[in-house]
Amino acid sequence: MSALNADKNDLESEYEALLSFMYLSPVGIVRSDKSGRVDMMNPLAAQLLMPLVKGGDIENIFDSLASVAPELRNLVASFEAERGPVCENHRVFVTPARDDAVVLACSIIKVSVDVLMMVLTDISRQVAAERRARQTESWLAGIYTSVNDFAFFTLDAEGCIDSWNPSVERLTGFGEMEVVGHMLSRFYARDEIVLHRSPEHIALTRDEGWHVEEFWCETKTGRRYWGQVLVAVLREDDGDISGYSVVLRDVTERKMHSDNLARLLTTDHLTGVTNRAHFFEIAESEVARAQRHDRALSLVMVDADHFKRINDTAGHQAGDDVLKRIADEAKALLRSSDTVARLGGEEFVLMLPSTTTAEAMVVAERLRVAVERARIDTAVGQWKATISLGVASLGDANPTLQDLLAAADRALYDAKRAGRNCVRGGVAEAKDVAFSDGEEGKAVRI
Ligand code: GH3
Ligand code: MG
Ligand code: MG
Repeated sequence: MSALNADKNDLESEYEALLSFMYLSPVGIVRSDKSGRVDMMNPLAAQLLMPLVKGGDIENIFDSLASVAPELRNLVASFEAERGPVCENHRVFVTPARDDAVVLACSIIKVSVDVLMMVLTDISRQVAAERRARQTESWLAGIYTSVNDFAFFTLDAEGCIDSWNPSVERLTGFGEMEVVGHMLSRFYARDEIVLHRSPEHIALTRDEGWHVEEFWCETKTGRRYWGQVLVAVLREDDGDISGYSVVLRDVTERKMHSDNLARLLTTDHLTGVTNRAHFFEIAESEVARAQRHDRALSLVMVDADHFKRINDTAGHQAGDDVLKRIADEAKALLRSSDTVARLGGEEFVLMLPSTTTAEAMVVAERLRVAVERARIDTAVGQWKATISLGVASLGDANPTLQDLLAAADRALYDAKRAGRNCVRGGVAEAKDVAFSDGEEGKAVRI
């Protein structure tokens, strides 16, 4: 045998050893070029990838994984070095996040310029264990944070209450006979029953393994409380669902706290109306909603007239009182679906969903009159103030929130130029509305 042949034989046996190693490997191994074209794959890899390729061959590994891990192709493409680890134990969720989700850990090694080795490990059990650990953690947290005001009970496989203990009566006031055989909705406040349907709740728990939801509840004596319900699946040894365990807690205090926090973050501290930041948030979605349903939407920009003079003559505090009064007049006039927001300084905006230009002009004029007539109490006596208003509506000319605001601003500027204390905008419908002649707004002590 020549030396060359001996080398060749060595190479071949090495290659065969590698193949059998790959074949027997407890992890999935795929070899491909850098575009993902597969030239070698062991049976375990094929088995792990099977759920992703319906009946077809796995020709390109990135194509096969595209529906669950499209980022892999980009990871490889943006890896510039000639060789090295592209990713390590990157998690790929093959089936949705459920109790029995299939999760693969994927490591890619760039072996040379055009050769990739991918190692796939089934970590479904590990992920399920992590999930259970998180679940236990939140359960314990739930129980420790309020030992006195929680009820613990179980439901049968159909979602009907099948156990009772004194904690149920302590929290809800209901005795055993009043709850056993009922659905979870037994505890809901009457006006919440339609919103939170117990069967859907159970269906979610079945899918996810556990589920948390919060809603208004009512005790037997009619006391309302904000209840948090944690439902977890109970399984037989064979894996079938035998029922559910439930922890119901009174978290009213926390709810009030977070509501207060939300209120603080979204309202203007001086006038109590919506603040600027929150206005832009809700206005964006209101514009989108109006467009989706082809509904009208109008904005009215409001600015106090000669406000500087009020501050200069009556003082800043009196100025604040005037601002509060303008906000109050606006709130009193509007529907619950409308929004009054303070954009800054002495400038407000009204957002009126499902309101045409003509209707918005009427609202604006009413507010103008209401402010003009108001006798505003301040520490330095009663004062009068006037406002100017600009109206604009969503439509072909103003397709976005920015356009709408700019149009309302232009209309407001027109009102100022026309002498203040008047409404401008909505040219087409303006003739329907009786306007003020634009009497000069003054800072007047009464
Ligand atoms: P115009 O009719 O053209 O709107 O005149 P104006 O005086 O109302 O407008 P200008 O923009 O010149 O002045 C606004 C004033 O509003 C100046 C500022 O000191 C005052 N201002 C802004 N924010 C507040 C506030 O929170 N409280 C008080 N009291 N005054 C404020
Ligand atoms: Mg002003
Ligand atoms: Mg201004």
